[in-house]
Amino acid sequence: MTGRCAFLLMLGALACDRAPRPAPQDLQSAASNADTNAPCKMPTQITNIVERDGAILETWALHSKDVATSQLPKDPAFLSYRAAIERDGANVRRPVADPPVARTEADVAVWRDEQFNNDLAFGGTVGSVNPISCLDALLFSRQATRVSQIDHPTEFLASVLRRETDSGADLVVVFGAGSEMFPPKNVYGFDVVRRFVADGWRYWYAIHNHTVQKNGKLLALGVPAPSTSDVQLYRSLGKEMRMDSLRVTNGFYTFSASVNELGAFRAR
Ligand SMILES: [Zn+2]
Repeated sequence: MTGRCAFLLMLGALACDRAPRPAPQDLQSAASNADTNAPCKMPTQITNIVERDGAILETWALHSKDVATSQLPKDPAFLSYRAAIERDGANVRRPVADPPVARTEADVAVWRDEQFNNDLAFGGTVGSVNPISCLDALLFSRQATRVSQIDHPTEFLASVLRRETDSGADLVVVFGAGSEMFPPKNVYGFDVVRRFVADGWRYWYAIHNHTVQKNGKLLALGVPAPSTSDVQLYRSLGKEMRMDSLRVTNGFYTFSASVNELGAFRAR
């Protein structure tokens, strides 16, 4: 999500008190006996909440074991996106893309701040950048199946909640996306997330994707790191709904960090 954070205004009053949070590594504990070669498949329990003018908001119910695999989705749209990136030799951890056109001093300042944050992300000072996981690839794949991410790049926005059970964690995904570059506000899903949090679910992470860029005549991946406006949004979600962490993916690599680490980033 770049350059648009108007929906911060939607978040309302921010809570100031915070109970201690579990360490991120505790939250990563998928079922230890998971089959890492199991297929990475869409959950069967999907509930449609909004479907209007090419935009969707839906919830997925699944168990952490369902996605505790090292495999990735086999959906044709996801595979063809990855093949197009690979054909251009663009499947690299730190994307190489044309620099943006800076027309004003303000543009230059924004670009400088974005580069500052990217250096922290790719250098490992804040969070980490790793190959995409099964669940996050399913999210990317869901939107790629609706809209080609090469021909018509679009951002989805998803929230992942979790609740521990005796057999591992139950997960709920709140997934929103449109048919244009940015999803419309009515599918952000934060009101749905808020209800789950009130019901005792933990807001594990929010994730969105950064779309393809150009590198001359070649494709380049979107940057797997939060923009300065993303940082502002994620700080607010951390305060308001005690979201644990955030992710940004490009279908190959995913940046992940605890909200508590965001202090080092520049925001606007
Ligand atoms: Zn973003």
